[in-house]
Amino acid sequence: MATPSALVLHCDACGADAPHRVLRGKVGGKADLVFEGVVKCSSCGAVRSVVSREPRPVERPVIVSWLGASERTTMEFSADEAIEIGEELELGDSRIEVTAIESKGARVGSARARDAETIWAKRVDKVRVKFSVNKRNRTIAVDLVAAPDEEFAVGDIVDLGKNRAIIHHIRTAHRTLREGSERADAIVRMYGRVVRERTSR
Ligand SMILES: [Zn+2]
Repeated sequence: MATPSALVLHCDACGADAPHRVLRGKVGGKADLVFEGVVKCSSCGAVRSVVSREPRPVERPVIVSWLGASERTTMEFSADEAIEIGEELELGDSRIEVTAIESKGARVGSARARDAETIWAKRVDKVRVKFSVNKRNRTIAVDLVAAPDEEFAVGDIVDLGKNRAIIHHIRTAHRTLREGSERADAIVRMYGRVVRERTSR
């Protein structure tokens, strides 16, 4: 493992918990990551030798589902870190929410990363908005992809690639909107029709 260029350590000289520049050193160890080297406190400039020890990070399989497909990947966790259902994690550029955890052969509500065998999650940075669009005598089902807080309003023109469609009404879990707007993550389905003329929003 590569030697870090800096470590956050407690400084015995000035008492600060501060970044320490690594002047020289090496990383070893098996279950724990052990750093042995010489560091310089960024707060007071004191130079000293240290041995620091932390549990080696663990890599865990994560199955991420989105838009009906699932993808297997891995994520790195601190070994003692607790993972629980409903928790949100950063995965690359996207955000995911933990939906299930398997530990010691059983589904659990939470587990330490070292004990989690598989983690299931769904993407929460994007949602699917269902849109039923009337085109002549047919109804086309279209899925739009949006950020959860993106708003759609009755009267909006949505670009569907080949077609453009106007939103007539928006159904949520509790009501049907015939005017106004709603967040993408609250929309159950939108209804509209294809428009021919190019209308500006
Ligand atoms: Zn210091």
